Amino acid sequence: MTKNWNKRTTAVHGGTRRSQYGEVSEAIFLTQGFVYDSAEAAEARFIEAGEDEFIYARYGNPTVRMFEDRIAALEGAEDAFAAASGMAAVSGALTAMLKAGDHVVSAKALFGSCLYVLEDVLARFGVEVTFVDGTDLVQWQAAIRPDTRAVFFESVSNPTLEVIDISAVCTLAHAVGATVLVDNVFATPVFSRAIEQGADVVIYSATKHIDGQGRALGGIILGTRDFIRKTVEPYMKHTGGAMSPFNAWVMLKGLETMSLRVNAQAESALALTEALQGHDGLARVLYPGHSSHGQFDLCTSQMGKGGTVVSLDLKGGQAAAFRFLNALTIAKISNNLGDAKSIVTHPATTTHQRLSEEQRAELGIAPGLVRFSVGIEDTDDLIADVKQALAAAGEGVSR
Ligand SMILES: *Cc1c(COP(=O)(O)O)cnc(C)c1O
Repeated sequence: MTKNWNKRTTAVHGGTRRSQYGEVSEAIFLTQGFVYDSAEAAEARFIEAGEDEFIYARYGNPTVRMFEDRIAALEGAEDAFAAASGMAAVSGALTAMLKAGDHVVSAKALFGSCLYVLEDVLARFGVEVTFVDGTDLVQWQAAIRPDTRAVFFESVSNPTLEVIDISAVCTLAHAVGATVLVDNVFATPVFSRAIEQGADVVIYSATKHIDGQGRALGGIILGTRDFIRKTVEPYMKHTGGAMSPFNAWVMLKGLETMSLRVNAQAESALALTEALQGHDGLARVLYPGHSSHGQFDLCTSQMGKGGTVVSLDLKGGQAAAFRFLNALTIAKISNNLGDAKSIVTHPATTTHQRLSEEQRAELGIAPGLVRFSVGIEDTDDLIADVKQALAAAGEGVSR
């Protein structure tokens, strides 16, 4: 994108490619292959495909390319490669660039599947991974070695909402020439300035705020043109993690409304946090966009707002957390996040069930911890619902 648009304009118009019909809404090119005018043309395209030339949907597709171009423009990245899911993007970016003998430093507070890729998969292929407390720059500095190839972290961790200082970690990593890959789901493309802050590669699960309406899986890897086309594309196109053209269309439609949704969700998340300050039934209310959060200043300078997720730690432990979940009438018990519908999750028994009790304790995933993904419903309704459910949890009443 050469145009000098702000994010909201880019999210609506960026990357649009129109067919000969001049359609207003982006076309879904639900096709696996593309017809060549001649055998010579087929040969030429396999040697080098032009801007508007496609070969096979596993390599690329016009609808998918629109999504890649739009989000690259939005993120301020040179290029992007869309993947079948957030995890196809995370594992694809890492395995595309790493080889046996490489050293990686990663934050230990990770989404369960990211932890599996870093801890189990990479280790099986001879990649050494050192885990650190992502909020502690001294640990990053100690772990990053002259031979470190890559650094990986979630800029805001799930579900404990710790903020990692992108600029500071990038400075340490770049001093040894390591590539910094940031899983930026909780920051969302709306609040992210990760590339400007030094990240080399930014990854999103598009399943979350980009779709934003709980319909389709998707992922995106953003980076320099060189990294995307020379490192990521060859790996992804031959290993099969491509995004479906239909899902790319869902994501394009999602991007159009993303800023409106995510800003409204962040405002409600802040209002909910404010309304729950000092509540009897809660040991902690975690929201990085509220002044009560230990990293409020870092969050504000890095993201502007605190995102769309609030984590609540109920004093009554798992029993109280379950009563709370069961008493909510608006938020649905599920495990997605970033959806228009509020979604509530009990990480210890679901998304982080695979971890040992010690690992959970170390990461602050207490038995009473509840992750609340704030939707676009009316703020007052959400607050009233959470308060009545907390009252029900406190009384030991279940529905
Ligand atoms: C959901 C999520 C993923 C995985 O995304 P999928 O689209 O479900 O594969 C990766 N990282 C983070 C931080 C997530 O929240």
